[in-house]
Amino acid sequence: MEKPETTQTGIGRGAALLLVVVVLVVAFFCFKVLRNPAPSIRPVERIEGIGISRHVAFAVTDSRYRIKRVRISVVQNGRTFNAPVTLKPLAVGKPSHGFAVEASAEIGRRSMPELAQGRATLRVAAVNDSWGRFFRGGRALFRLSVPVRFMPPQVEVLTPQQYIYQGGCDMVVFSVSDGTVSSGVQVGKYYFPSWPVKETGPQTRFCLFAFPYDADPSTSAYIVAVDDAGNRTVASFNYKVFPVKFPSSTFAVPDAFMQRVVPPIMSQTTDIRDQGSLVANFVEINRVLRRMDSGRLVQFSRHTGSKWMWTKPFLRQPNTKDEGGFADARTYVYDGKVIDREVHLGDDLASVEHAPVIAANDGLVIYAGWFDIFGNAVIIDHGCGLQSLYGHMASFKVKAGELVKRGQVIGVSDSTGLAGGDHVHYEMLLDGVPISPKEWWDPHWVHDRITARLAQFQ
Ligand SMILES: [Zn+2]
Repeated sequence: MEKPETTQTGIGRGAALLLVVVVLVVAFFCFKVLRNPAPSIRPVERIEGIGISRHVAFAVTDSRYRIKRVRISVVQNGRTFNAPVTLKPLAVGKPSHGFAVEASAEIGRRSMPELAQGRATLRVAAVNDSWGRFFRGGRALFRLSVPVRFMPPQVEVLTPQQYIYQGGCDMVVFSVSDGTVSSGVQVGKYYFPSWPVKETGPQTRFCLFAFPYDADPSTSAYIVAVDDAGNRTVASFNYKVFPVKFPSSTFAVPDAFMQRVVPPIMSQTTDIRDQGSLVANFVEINRVLRRMDSGRLVQFSRHTGSKWMWTKPFLRQPNTKDEGGFADARTYVYDGKVIDREVHLGDDLASVEHAPVIAANDGLVIYAGWFDIFGNAVIIDHGCGLQSLYGHMASFKVKAGELVKRGQVIGVSDSTGLAGGDHVHYEMLLDGVPISPKEWWDPHWVHDRITARLAQFQ
């Protein structure tokens, strides 16, 4: 009697187990097809509006599934305008870390002629290859309500005439219409952003711009303004460029000099490799590391404050002799042969050995440390893209993040880095571009071109 019971129970248990398995499989299946394991969508750049034509890009990422499709469209008054989408894979490491693509498109009136001024919704839909939503794939939706504007920004120039020396600066004041998000002066490949004259009215802007030493005097300068919809205006203004004949000099590079400067610089950098000889390493430092350091100065300029921190003209290091002028084209000679040609972009100011080095003006120390060819260097930010650099120092009396006053001692001079003797390599920079320091030392120039001109609009 016991046996069949046991068998019955055995069959009952088997069936129950099967049922449980079936239920689990069905539940798992339902779970897989009913859920929506959506990818994520993030705009690559801030999108503030739509205009004639603009490029939009979105990073679409998924931790498990491949991205199957991305649609970018503009929806306005119940109508949908689809844009052709370009997909490009984004590197995110191993495939086990998921999948990522950049979806981009051109949107605006040029490709969507029936788009009207007013408002519209930018809509991005991304679908992955999961079983979600009954095999249609998990879907994510990104929506952004933005203004639609077709009139480019209006620019009105408020200063009548600009005079500028090659390698030097001038300032133009102009006003821009509502919706303008960026404006500045373009000189060839160089762009100098503008800043608000008053905090209360961001429409009146001043722009300190340089005519860089390496820009041909015939290079055109324009005011450029871009609005939230990506519309761009190019406006001309009155300026006159005075060409400057920059100095040139020849530098003999003796072995003793290279033996002193090359090993310390090589020991501090991982950016350049040992070229096998002292001369080759010198050239690598003088040419390659110098270029890299120019790039770093542009990076530093991005940390500038949004307000000018100074009021008086800049100070020159006291009791100094000018050893090397701005934009001096230097030819380097070793053993009777030309080994390199570089342009020196600061002023070399020498007095006595281990002389105190002073801050040229009020500002914020943004760097104090070893800086390749400049040796021990300090960079002071004076606001609105204007910065000063002090190179070849022995030691520092300040550290990054410290506010300094005009004339305050910031360190002691020496010949660290790529320097032949004890001096301060002083560089003035505008948005990371070296500019002639002389104008900034001249009280008349600073008053007439900068402070008095700006005061008219404040
Ligand atoms: Zn120098």
